[in-house]
Amino acid sequence: MSPKPHVGIIGAGLSGLRCADVLVQNGAQVTILEARDRLGGRVHQAELEGRLVDLGPNWIHGAPFSRDGEPVSEYNTGLISEAVWTTIDKAFEYSNKNKHTIPPERSLYDFFKETVKETSLSPEEEQLLLDACKLWGAYVGEPIERQSLKFFHLEECIDGNNFFVASTYKRILEYVAKAAQSDATIKLNQKVVKIDTSNDQISITTSAGETHTFDEVVVTCPLGWLKNNLSAFTPALPAPLTSAIKSISYGRLEKVFVRFPRAFWQPDTGTAKPFFAQFLEPNYVEHPAGVEWNQECMSLASLPEDCAQPTLLFYTYGPSGAHIVSRIADLDPASQEYRDTLIGFLEPFYARLPGYNALSKDCVPSAILATKWQTDELGGYGSYSNFQVGLEQGGKDIEVMRAGVAEKGLWFAGGTYLAICGTGDDDGGILEW
Ligand SMILES: Cc1cc2nc3c(=O)[nH]c(=O)nc-3n(C[C@H](O)[C@H](O)[C@H](O)COP(=O)(O)OP(=O)(O)OC[C@H]3O[C@@H](n4cnc5c(N)ncnc54)[C@H](O)[C@@H]3O)c2cc1C
Repeated sequence: MSPKPHVGIIGAGLSGLRCADVLVQNGAQVTILEARDRLGGRVHQAELEGRLVDLGPNWIHGAPFSRDGEPVSEYNTGLISEAVWTTIDKAFEYSNKNKHTIPPERSLYDFFKETVKETSLSPEEEQLLLDACKLWGAYVGEPIERQSLKFFHLEECIDGNNFFVASTYKRILEYVAKAAQSDATIKLNQKVVKIDTSNDQISITTSAGETHTFDEVVVTCPLGWLKNNLSAFTPALPAPLTSAIKSISYGRLEKVFVRFPRAFWQPDTGTAKPFFAQFLEPNYVEHPAGVEWNQECMSLASLPEDCAQPTLLFYTYGPSGAHIVSRIADLDPASQEYRDTLIGFLEPFYARLPGYNALSKDCVPSAILATKWQTDELGGYGSYSNFQVGLEQGGKDIEVMRAGVAEKGLWFAGGTYLAICGTGDDDGGILEW
């Protein structure tokens, strides 16, 4: 290895950028190869009538609507909301304690069904609690029937306070990118198609046929990309690594922003209160039998004044997320068909919010925008990793990925969730996994 090793990083998302920062600080020469024409990867914003919205990460929290679309009473909301989080906490504890003995096929939903039997809730409240627990699906991008109980404890790192980044992740990205922009070489529009570790130096080939060689390489392509591109590695990755990449799942969370002339769901006077709605097992919209169709939305009208906008942000995941993306995948976002398709999908839900009046022009969306991560090759055709039923050794799989192929100088890094942490003597960093 050269005295100042030359490290190649594939991907200029938060992981690649942060990785470049750390490596440069420790004396390496760093080159980042990024396939897109921009930095940030899944951290990305779009403009909706002059205001920025985050298409990737931001945050979530807790007024549910029942199966028949009626608002759940305030009493029940409080009761259920507390019970949901208590049950989720119990599930973390149970998963942590019994991770070695829980069968891989047992789901988080199985645990909720058993736990609910031990409460003193009425059958209606029990059902409501079970429906409300499904909000976890929007965290992991798949229904909780698919969430592995055995590896649920691995999600606990996102426990604690959640903050909604009102002004979007734009400035966080700018902050994280600063060091890489000044001290590393960043090459955009460089889609890597081949990573060859058969020689002393690692050789990387791009789709344009260019070759770059490095002493060491860090791959930060999303897990979904790795799953689809195992053949990009020569020689093939070691079997445990290949198996880890195949075993851990990749979720399907999508967001739809629906902007209105006015935030009709909140009173005209007074400070806007945070507003979050959950639509539990809706039987008032057509959907495939036996498939979960829960939706959630939060209001962006109650954000601080300079970020507030009369917009509902819907989180849609799993099969319903896949359904909506398949309907709009080929449509021009400026077209009437795009707008009609999204409105057709979401109107049954927002029409149940307080203040809705079908005859009022305040209740007709002025703009609508949906993400399509499931069609994004570089995003791994999905949103982020999760641990689904059937997984047998999730903890080990992650360790294997973290270890990479050290003897060849090939490493893997990437984010499932982002956590901002302070250590006391510095101003915090971004942690992934
Ligand atoms: C809808 C959605 C909502 C989310 N919500 C949250 C949230 O609220 N909170 C949270 O903490 N996390 C959330 N996440 C997850 C978060 O976005 C990711 O964990 C994080 O952005 C991952 O960063 P990364 O750098 O590891 O990957 P990425 O940001 O995906 O970066 C990887 C980079 O590699 C590039 N790349 C891929 N393939 C190639 C190739 N062949 N050659 C060259 N470059 C390549 C990509 O273009 C990309 O720029 C969300 C994600 C989505 C999609």
